[in-house]
Amino acid sequence: MKPLDPREFLDLDPGERLLMGPGPSNVPARVLQALAAPCIGHLDPVFLAVMNETQRLLRHLFQTQNALTIPVSATGSAGMEACLVNLVEPGDEVLVAVNGVFGTRMGDIVQRIGGRLLRVDVPWGRAVDPAAVAEALRGRAPRIVAVVHAETSTGACTPLEELARIAHEAGALFLVDCVTSLGGMEVAVDRLGIDAAYSGTQKCLSCPPGLAPLTFSPAAVARLEARRHPVVSWYLDLGMVRDYWGNERKYHHTAPVNMIWALREALRLIAEEGLEARFARHRLNHRALVAGLEAMGLEMLVPEAERLPMLNAVRIPEGVAEAKIRRALLEDYGIEIGAGLGPLAGKIWRIGLMGHSCRPKNVLLLLSALSVLLRSEGFRLRGDALEAARAVYAAA
Ligand SMILES: *Cc1c(COP(=O)(O)O)cnc(C)c1O
Repeated sequence: MKPLDPREFLDLDPGERLLMGPGPSNVPARVLQALAAPCIGHLDPVFLAVMNETQRLLRHLFQTQNALTIPVSATGSAGMEACLVNLVEPGDEVLVAVNGVFGTRMGDIVQRIGGRLLRVDVPWGRAVDPAAVAEALRGRAPRIVAVVHAETSTGACTPLEELARIAHEAGALFLVDCVTSLGGMEVAVDRLGIDAAYSGTQKCLSCPPGLAPLTFSPAAVARLEARRHPVVSWYLDLGMVRDYWGNERKYHHTAPVNMIWALREALRLIAEEGLEARFARHRLNHRALVAGLEAMGLEMLVPEAERLPMLNAVRIPEGVAEAKIRRALLEDYGIEIGAGLGPLAGKIWRIGLMGHSCRPKNVLLLLSALSVLLRSEGFRLRGDALEAARAVYAAA
């Protein structure tokens, strides 16, 4: 074997990017600085105190009193898996409403862990219709009703209040994926009656990927404690993980110490901004972006009343080379946006306005860049995108 020459490996230099895709979003300097603080022991009293603070900040963000509110040590998908492996036992029926990639993923996990999947399919690009869920529940009593609040693959927002009521009337726990919504719009866990929710750090929290904030209501904890079978995942067994995050401080796995520093700082920034102000900022930039896109003559995928503020799916106009434009955005402007997934591949772009990335200058920059690139592809712009976006800001 050829000897390895360490000089082949250059200093790391990823360059700068404006992250306006489906995640990650841009990470504020304060969060990057926190990440670079010294790594200390995961049972050091200083770290234990920061764990407590992180939990308090997470409860504020989830708007909950739930004792079991922790960051799972892995990405958003691990939050999804943690909820399902802890709440579902072999043979349990689980209703999953599927309106995109992430609902599909939940259904996949349910089947892998031996649950019986009751799948309610909703057209991609639309919110979940509570009536369809109520209809599917007739005569059934599943263990869980699960939905994705913010379907990042399509940009559709599913309102939670009525679904929570329907789930509880059927005797089920209500499980919500709020990976993309948390930190960008309200996820009021206690008020809405959400029993289990999970998120991720790299979307509207603007922290690097690597942790999955999760919260369990007392009813979900009771389900966990009443299990007849051990949780099939050792790593994600919340019965053991909570003995580390709770008063016992019993070692389970080594916490990713520096990621907790970063998450705490990201949550501190959110608390400083204020939840209402942050949600309003996401709504305003979304309205400006959509006004600009529509002024150009582009069409949104999702009907207006069902749109997310932080993920904007726009239809690719006929005859436009979608990958070429995305590549030019990245190479010429340093802007990342997302492509369509599954049945929407080649049909939409996904423009993220998440957390730190969600600001007027980024909206204006993207609209200018996209206008130039579309024109160079021969697309005739209907009107002036920047003027339309500016008008939204001026009227705010
Ligand atoms: C990103 C995302 C996930 C998965 O999170 P990872 O951090 O990529 O594992 C799950 N659900 C939704 C809605 C997402 O947007």
